[in-house]
Amino acid sequence: MRQDKCSAFGARLENPAATAQIHGMAESLDDATLTSPHTVPGRYWHRLDDGRVQCDLCPRFCKLHAGQRGLCFSRAATEDGMVLTSYGRSSGFCVDPVEKKPLNHFLPGSAILSFGTAGCNLTCKFCQNWDMSKSRDMDRLADAASPQLLARAATDLGCRSIAFTYNDPTIFLEYAVDVAAACKSVGIKSVAVSAGYITPEPRAEFYRHMDAANIDLKGFTEDFYRTICGGHLQPVLDTLVYLKRETNVWFEVTTLLIPGLNDSDAELEAMCAWFAENLGPGVPLHFTAYHPDWKMRDRERTPASTLQKAQTIARKAGLRYVYVGNVHDKQGSSTVCHQCGQILIGRDWYVLSDWNLTADGHCTACGKKMAGVIDGPPGIWGAKRRPVRLRDFDRDGPKHNQPVFART
Ligand code: SF4
Repeated sequence: MRQDKCSAFGARLENPAATAQIHGMAESLDDATLTSPHTVPGRYWHRLDDGRVQCDLCPRFCKLHAGQRGLCFSRAATEDGMVLTSYGRSSGFCVDPVEKKPLNHFLPGSAILSFGTAGCNLTCKFCQNWDMSKSRDMDRLADAASPQLLARAATDLGCRSIAFTYNDPTIFLEYAVDVAAACKSVGIKSVAVSAGYITPEPRAEFYRHMDAANIDLKGFTEDFYRTICGGHLQPVLDTLVYLKRETNVWFEVTTLLIPGLNDSDAELEAMCAWFAENLGPGVPLHFTAYHPDWKMRDRERTPASTLQKAQTIARKAGLRYVYVGNVHDKQGSSTVCHQCGQILIGRDWYVLSDWNLTADGHCTACGKKMAGVIDGPPGIWGAKRRPVRLRDFDRDGPKHNQPVFART
């Protein structure tokens, strides 16, 4: 469900400087940011002949004079190169069900510690959670969060994994990979929720550290990406193919269906045909419902019939695991064995019901393996969403609490 991510516009709304950058105006780094401990050297850039710095992290390739921020607001040029200005800062932390990312085939029912920073490298007019990242407010409220503290909090909270979500982790890559490494050292898995808008070299580094991902495929036309999202389609397709062919990252894909914009039969048929051919039948695809938000309030919510139509088209294309999201529809949200038809995981929104899998993910009726990462019985986290204050897990600080949740 994409309320879970992509909060860039909230940041921009509250931040005139970021808004200026969207409109192509120069954006200055202030001295406090330059000297902040949250500002660290950034990777993936080179210097242009005219002295500017080009960021090579995402296909936007911002070209910046020293002191200017990129469109994502998180990264900026200095006299010495690029910096990331949000290392160790977060817009907030919550324990969520992993199904909320959405991931239906990755440690089902488990709790996942979720956080993000501020900014985004796309400019989607329909952003479904821009209000979650009013960056100046968030910056005042948020805990500082070192990779080690996040790993400790995830452990103490009984989470099996940590999610880089709410905004796109591409733009805080250096921080995300350090957090993932710290989590790995204590047995916590890492999950990226991303639009997949990243260039090849950083993509390889980033996904080396990830165990799972949910990638937005926002539409299936270049025109939609260009006019509605401020990006391009092909780099996203490249990321999906990369994940499938060159990594062991478990990934699922989400498409938010917007009435009249990306939900035609022809577009959905083309998308599902590409999906089946390039990603195969076993990659889960989620069709989620849009609601009017941010700069797109002139369209109705996505009707349930559109989600069901998309599901039918995807199944006809041969996809085995196709889900509807952001609606109550047990039939459309449950996982069915593609060999014998038994319900493997009953699901209504984020709440699990039936469970007909062995501990390693085989159908209890016919023995066929379900695609995904299954490790024992399902978790029992349910649909809860619990905000967390990171400083409570700092054992060197005054307010450390004992673990408060049973492991799920
Ligand atoms: S990551 Fe940010 S600064 Fe770099 S190219 Fe993308 S939008 Fe520009």
